[in-house]
Amino acid sequence: MVLRIGVVGTGAIGREHINRITNKLSGGKIVAVTDVNKVAAKQTVEQYQLDAAIYPDDTALIADPNVDAVVVTSWGPAHESTVLAAIKAGKFVFCEKPLATTAEGCKRIVEAEMKHGKKLVQVGFMRRYDSGYIQLKKTIENNEIGEPLMIRAAHRNPTVNENYTTDMAVTDTLIHEIDVLHWLVDDDYNSVQVLFPRKTKYAHSNLQDPQLFTIETNKGIVMNVEVFVNCKYGYDIQCEVAGEEGIAKLPEFPSVVVRKDEKLSTGILNDWKYRFMEAYNVEIQDFIDSVTKNGEPQGPTAWDGYIAAVTSDACVKAQVSGEKETIALPEAPEFYRNRAKLSV
Ligand code: NAP
Repeated sequence: MVLRIGVVGTGAIGREHINRITNKLSGGKIVAVTDVNKVAAKQTVEQYQLDAAIYPDDTALIADPNVDAVVVTSWGPAHESTVLAAIKAGKFVFCEKPLATTAEGCKRIVEAEMKHGKKLVQVGFMRRYDSGYIQLKKTIENNEIGEPLMIRAAHRNPTVNENYTTDMAVTDTLIHEIDVLHWLVDDDYNSVQVLFPRKTKYAHSNLQDPQLFTIETNKGIVMNVEVFVNCKYGYDIQCEVAGEEGIAKLPEFPSVVVRKDEKLSTGILNDWKYRFMEAYNVEIQDFIDSVTKNGEPQGPTAWDGYIAAVTSDACVKAQVSGEKETIALPEAPEFYRNRAKLSV
């Protein structure tokens, strides 16, 4: 069976997903697209030579009986209404982060999906599909380093544009650590505090950079996460877990080692797209396969989108207050318990 996919939002990542579904992956076909930018939608169909309908809006695309699944890659504030409409129509949804821009919006999606009675939604937290994070999780689960006690992580970008504000360090950047770190240690967050170290001269006036987040979990694991988005030297994702018996570290992105001029050197990526390119492929392939073979997506759930939003709100609150803020996560409903089990 081929999964017939409609894409809402043909911007940067929308086109990337269209390209991978059309040219790299198997089992999926783009049959419809829409974008508020009509020119972008038309150009995308031409660029990838798609045999796809171009719809004026998401409502018309979702109503097409040829569309089995909807990929939501529009801008964040538009996600909630598209996902809710797709659930109402009983269609599968792959939604890029954020699931919705507020925790209340994510909760409305969770409630709609539970009311529908069958899991339809997967959220685009692709790090769970990255081979490095999967190896790290297996190392912890196999008890190779004993009980995890502390995590040191860093999310560094060479530079950001003038529109990037202090809160976006959470909503656009830290959000990936928020999702992947609790998944890594199978625990829930309960508090966060933020420190602003000395500001780099490369940060523009509206941006506090770097930032240090101290996040604690229910089991008492303390995570120190650095967000540094004007680090200059490259795109760099670090994660080190200290356990009772040893330390486990996220592997470096593979790069050729050069011996030259009395130096040993390896390249560092400069663009986030390349770091997680393979993870995006595996993620979308898993969405297609799990929906067509098992009748439901098995990746990050709407509940994961909701708890990421609750945690993100607390992190933004902590940026403003300077205090230790509580992360009040409700217990997962039975519907979502043990649902996001990956077997990739
Ligand atoms: P983008 O290049 O700005 O693309 C968004 C596209 O959606 C634009 O063409 C925009 O049109 C269009 N759009 C806005 N509202 C719409 C609506 N109501 N219906 C249909 N189309 C609409 O942004 P992007 O970088 O692709 O990001 C898209 C989403 O993916 C964001 O939520 C972002 O956070 C997420 N993302 C996730 C990752 C990841 O690592 N998982 C990476 C990148 C992006 P206009 O340009 O006319 O507004």
